[in-house]
Amino acid sequence: MRFTNIILFISFSLGLAASAGTQGVGQQQPRCTQASPYADRIMRDVANIAQTLARLPYYELCRTLDVPNAAATVFPVRTPRGPQPKFMVYYNPQWAATADVSVANDFALIGVFAHEVGHIEHFANLYNPRNPGAVQQAQRNLHMPHQKELRADWFAGAVLARMGASVDDVVSVQRIIFSLHTTRNYPPSTVRLEHMLRAYSQHRRTPMSNREIQRRVGAAADLRSKYIRW
Ligand SMILES: [Zn+2]
Repeated sequence: MRFTNIILFISFSLGLAASAGTQGVGQQQPRCTQASPYADRIMRDVANIAQTLARLPYYELCRTLDVPNAAATVFPVRTPRGPQPKFMVYYNPQWAATADVSVANDFALIGVFAHEVGHIEHFANLYNPRNPGAVQQAQRNLHMPHQKELRADWFAGAVLARMGASVDDVVSVQRIIFSLHTTRNYPPSTVRLEHMLRAYSQHRRTPMSNREIQRRVGAAADLRSKYIRW
């Protein structure tokens, strides 16, 4: 299934590390069930803050074992007014539980959800209701995986700042979506963390100095030594 090619999944010694992914239009949709009350509450908190940053479409949160970690999607549904986009965020409860335990920071999963909401915001911007093929067009426009991921990381950093997260909390998000190398779909964690921290710095009361940001980005680089020693 194409889905698994799109979502990068890495596991390593501390448990699981993965990059939250994106799925597009026209692919097979995951089978899913109602989100847990805990996940629902996190998503409500994230959405409340995210709405102060951008206008968001209606979207649903759903739990599934069909995605390795977390994903955001948009797909067309038939309505009397013609095809309309349906926005979804999925999470894998087994992955989320393992990540939650290994990182032991509630903001880590909050940050992943905020990243997915960042994708939803992006999809909604690309969607043009005047264009009948708009959803498919939006999907074609999404073939810039690195920019797309960094944009969602930026959004997550801003949401975390407005939720009162600390710098350590932001760094913890990158621990669970850690990726050592650049891949087709994802930039390396050093770049991703830098984007999150720059957005975080801009949206919190006291901006961080450039030096402090660089020092913290070093935390993602440090994970490299843990990764390669095994
Ligand atoms: Zn993503």
